[in-house]
Amino acid sequence: MNLTFEHTTLGQRVLFGSGRAAENLAAEVARFGATKVMVITSESHLSMARKVAVGIDVTLWHTDVVMHVPVETAEAARAAAGGAEIDLLICIGGGSTTGLAKAVALSTGIPIIAVPTTYAGSEATNVWGLTEAGRKTTGVDNRVLPATVVYDAALTLELPLDMSVASGLNAVAHCIDSLWGPRADPINAALAVEGIRALAEGLRLIKADPSAVTGREQTLYGAYLAAVSFASAGSGMHHKICHVLGGTFNLPHAQTHAAVLPYVLAFNAPAAPEAEARTAAALGSDTAIEGLQLLCGELDAPNALKDYGFALEGVAEAVELVLPAIPAGNPRPVSAANLAELLTGALNGADPTNLTYT
Ligand code: NAD
Repeated sequence: MNLTFEHTTLGQRVLFGSGRAAENLAAEVARFGATKVMVITSESHLSMARKVAVGIDVTLWHTDVVMHVPVETAEAARAAAGGAEIDLLICIGGGSTTGLAKAVALSTGIPIIAVPTTYAGSEATNVWGLTEAGRKTTGVDNRVLPATVVYDAALTLELPLDMSVASGLNAVAHCIDSLWGPRADPINAALAVEGIRALAEGLRLIKADPSAVTGREQTLYGAYLAAVSFASAGSGMHHKICHVLGGTFNLPHAQTHAAVLPYVLAFNAPAAPEAEARTAAALGSDTAIEGLQLLCGELDAPNALKDYGFALEGVAEAVELVLPAIPAGNPRPVSAANLAELLTGALNGADPTNLTYT
């Protein structure tokens, strides 16, 4: 382990407690002294959001949420916030909802309290994303980091099992990519391996009983560690691939991450022995890829991008867009040929350990 490093920890308040979202949110709003509160949530979560926001005065409810935050959606939310002179944003929902609050904060500096309902982890990062004309742009800005996160695992009880699995594996991907991201360091690696352990345990518990809060709590705890680790380490090869697949091909975020992860792990692991060993240990397996494949198999995880709208015709364009974005320090050199092989394998759900990359 290299113990010469530079590390930045992002400042954020976290309130964690199952069944406590309404109480914790009301206390936070009072602490901010906010008078004009905008709640961002999707139409389908409005009744859940109303229960969470029961103790606060809401000036504006905004429900126009779209995955990957199209710029038009962001502009509409910004105009609504400006028109109502909003001084506090609250987002209640998954990563798409958090992403919209971030887009408003990016241009206005209005603080955010995030109440996540998936395991996407956007609430713990200072990364924003916007999509325009089929291209997703991301950036880093501390204005978009929610000032407070209110975690309540009970809010994820209604997340369907397949979405819970995909979202939890999206969090596992944050952990694994953190181990070789451009700013990987021992602190974010420590968070990442505990994240992998908690997520594997939590997801197995959710699979066994989706209606029990214990597995949801473990998974949400792991998702937070994953996101903190990822925010610090930066996007590695895995996220660069999924970013293009989501932004250009409009593939669903969590399922894409879940399907691609075994391919990137199998590709990089032989060239990243420390990351490999720590991932294997966190998964309780002899090798990292064996542990991940076992977990994905048990969870019936997404395993082929063709099931989510990706097609062979898209591989060449994806390669062209992903290749220049691969971080220079990726453990294993990436070429157009091996990236095409990886993407074709992920498209078809081929066994990632059988890809030869000759
Ligand atoms: P999402 O927010 O679109 O939610 C996925 C689906 O689950 C939606 O249909 C939603 O309505 C539903 N859902 C959410 N919570 C639910 C609940 N508790 N019960 C029932 N249904 C529920 O998807 P996501 O995977 O959470 O987030 C993806 C988005 O977040 C992408 O745009 C991605 O780029 C972004 N993201 C950003 C970061 C970052 O650091 N900036 C990190 C992770 C994800």
